[in-house]
Amino acid sequence: MNSVQTPPPPPAAQTPPPDEPRVLIDTSKMSAGQRAALELTEAAREATNTRTFAAGLFMGAFDLSTISPFPVQSTEDHDQGDAFLERLEAVLRDRVDPDAIDDTGEIPQPVVDELARLGAFGFKIPSEYGGLGLSQTNYCRAAIMLGSWCGNLTALLSAHQSIGVPQPLILFGTRAQKLKYLPRVAKGEISAFALTETHVGSDPAAMATHAEPTPDGKFFILNGEKLWCTNGTKAGVIVVMAKTPAKEIRGSKKDQITAFIVEMDWPGVEVRHRCHFMGLKALYNGVIHFTNVRVPVENILLAEGKGLRVALTTLNTGRLTLPAACAGLAKRCLMLSRAWAAERVQWGAPIGKHAAIADKVSRMAANVFAMESMTLLAASRVDRDKHADVRLEAAMCKLWATETAWDIVNDTVQIRGGRGYETAASLKARGEPPVALERMLRDCRINTIFEGSSEIMRLFIAREALDPHLKISAAVLNSRLPWSERLGAAVKAGWFYLRWYPKQWLPLEMFRGSSSKHRVGRNHLRYSARGSRRLARALFHAMLRHGPKLEREQLLLGRFVDIATELFAITAVCLRGARLLEAKGLTAETQALPSLIDNFCSAARLRIERHFRGLHHNTDRAGYRLAQDVLAGKLEALEHGVVR
Ligand SMILES: Cc1cc2nc3c(=O)[nH]c(=O)nc-3n(C[C@H](O)[C@H](O)[C@H](O)COP(=O)(O)OP(=O)(O)OC[C@H]3O[C@@H](n4cnc5c(N)ncnc54)[C@H](O)[C@@H]3O)c2cc1C
Repeated sequence: MNSVQTPPPPPAAQTPPPDEPRVLIDTSKMSAGQRAALELTEAAREATNTRTFAAGLFMGAFDLSTISPFPVQSTEDHDQGDAFLERLEAVLRDRVDPDAIDDTGEIPQPVVDELARLGAFGFKIPSEYGGLGLSQTNYCRAAIMLGSWCGNLTALLSAHQSIGVPQPLILFGTRAQKLKYLPRVAKGEISAFALTETHVGSDPAAMATHAEPTPDGKFFILNGEKLWCTNGTKAGVIVVMAKTPAKEIRGSKKDQITAFIVEMDWPGVEVRHRCHFMGLKALYNGVIHFTNVRVPVENILLAEGKGLRVALTTLNTGRLTLPAACAGLAKRCLMLSRAWAAERVQWGAPIGKHAAIADKVSRMAANVFAMESMTLLAASRVDRDKHADVRLEAAMCKLWATETAWDIVNDTVQIRGGRGYETAASLKARGEPPVALERMLRDCRINTIFEGSSEIMRLFIAREALDPHLKISAAVLNSRLPWSERLGAAVKAGWFYLRWYPKQWLPLEMFRGSSSKHRVGRNHLRYSARGSRRLARALFHAMLRHGPKLEREQLLLGRFVDIATELFAITAVCLRGARLLEAKGLTAETQALPSLIDNFCSAARLRIERHFRGLHHNTDRAGYRLAQDVLAGKLEALEHGVVR
C-alpha cells in the first residue's frame, strides 16, 4: 500500500476560457500559489454528469437502484477467485513469516519469486498480456487475505499493482506501451509510483521535478528528486510525475504535470536512500534522483499535461486496495480478540464476559462486517462497469476503513492487555504464542496518511459533494461575470432550488430501488433515506450561511462527509446482510447476522446524530483561535519543564 495524496480541492468560481476545463471555484481572492494549486487539481478532476449513490446522499437522493440487491459474484468469477486464494493462502501460510520479514527488514527473494509464479504481480492485468485478469472483487479478496497476514507484502503488491505501472497502463496505456510493459510487470518485474517530493505532499503545484522536450521532440529530459517511493529501491520500472513546460492559455501560463514511464536502469536514474519507518520495516521505499534522464515521448502516459488526471483516476479504483487490506487486518484482530476474550480469566470470569471488553468485541465484529461490505460493494461496481465512477465510494471506504482499522488494532492491544504491548519474539521466548499485535499496530499507522490522508480525503469528498451545487449556483456568486449573466444564473438556480428544497422536507420514508425481499435492516435504510434528506438540507443551509467561505470550514465539511460515509456504511451493511439472509436463510452461520446488522446500524446512527449536533454545537471557532495562539507561541509556557 502506498501512496499518493489527493490534492485538497476547495470549492467556489471563475470564468473558464473556452479551451480549458471549467473551474467552478472562485479564485479571485486567492494567492497566486493557492490559485495555481487549485486550478491544477480542478483541471484534473473527472467531470461527470451521472450521479452515483454516494453523491446522491448529499443531495437527498437515496437511490438504491444501482446497488440493490447487493451484488454477488458470478459462480465463475467466485470460483476463479477461490482457486487463486487457495494457492495464495498456501504460500502465505507455508512460505511467509511476517515476523521475520519485520525483523530483518527484507522480503526473502524466494517469497517474491513464489508470488511471481503464482501470478500475484499480475492480479488485474488481462491474460492477453500475461496477467491473471482477476476481477476487482477477487483482487479485493486477495488484498483482504494479504492484509490479514503481512503488511509488508501487501504494500509491495499494492504499490506495484494499484498505483505502480499496471493500473495506469491498463487504464491509459497505448497498445504499444501495454505490449512492452504489461508482460514484464505481470511476470514479477516490480513497479512503483513517484509523485511525492520534499515539498510536495498534498500540493502537487509545488512540484520541482521537471522534464523538458529535446529540440527534435523525441525525448523529454527529466531532472529532480522523488521522496518515499514505495518499491522504488527494487523496481525495474516506475511511473514518474513531472512538470513539463507550462502552456500559455489566454495570456497566462498554466502549469502542466505529465506522467512518464521510466526504467530504473536508464542512465541518470539513481536510488539515493532507502527510507525506514515506524512500521512496514521491509518497505522498499526510497529517494530517487533523476539527472538528465532521457525519456522517449512514447513513454508519456495518456498525454502531455495529463499526469494528475492519470494519478487521480488510477487512485479511484486503486484506493480500494487499502480498505480491503484493512478489512483483512481487522479480521485477524477479531480472531485474536475472540480467542483471548474467551480464554483469559480475570476477576472470576473470562474477560469477554466483562461489559467493557464485550463492548469492544461487539463493535469490532460489526465494524469488520461493515468494512468488508463497503469495499465489496464498491468493487462490484467496478466489475459491472470498468469505467464506473467510484471515486466517492472508494474515498469513503478508504477514509472509514483506515480510521476504523486503527481503532480495531488499538482495541485488540487493549483486550490483550500487557501481552498486546509485548513483541512476538519476547512472547515466544517465554513460551507464549507469538501474537504480533505490536507489529500490526506499527504497520497499521501509516494507512490514514498515505493514498490520501484522512484530512485530504474529507476535503476531496466534500468537493465532490458540493459539485452539484457549484454547477447550479457558482455563476451567481462569481464577481468576475457580468451582472446580466449572473442574473440569468440566479433565475436558473432559483428555479432549481424552488423545486428541490421543499422535497428535502417531505416526511417520506420511501426510497427508490431496493429490490431486497428480506426485511432485515429496513428500518435503518428508512433512517438513511431520511438522513440523506436531512444532510442535503443541512449542507444547503451551510452554503447559504457561509457562501464561498464554506471551503474554509474544514471541520463543518468534515461532519457532512462523516455523516454521508456512515450512511453509506449502513446501506452497505443492510443490503449485504439482507442478501446473505435471503441466500442462506437463518442457519448456524447466519443466526447472529440480524443482531450484527442492528448493532452496527444503531451505533452508526448514534455517530451520525452526534455529527448533526456538532454542526451547531461545537468549539470549532474557539479551537481555531486557540490553535493560532499556540502556533504564535503565546502558550509557550505549556512547554516548560521538559528537556530541551
Ligand atoms: C510509508 C510511506 C510510503 C509512501 N509511498 C509513496 C509512494 O509510493 N509514492 C508517492 O508518491 N508517495 C508516497 N508516500 C508519500 C505520501 O503519500 C505522503 O506522505 C502523503 O501524501 C502526505 O504528504 P506529506 O507527508 O508531505 O504531508 P503534508 O502534505 O505535509 O501534510 C501534513 C499533514 O497536514 C495535513 N494537511 C495537508 N494539507 C492540508 C489541508 N489543505 N487541509 C487540512 N489538512 C492538510 C495532512 O493530512 C497531514 O496530516 C509515502 C509515504 C510514506 C510515509
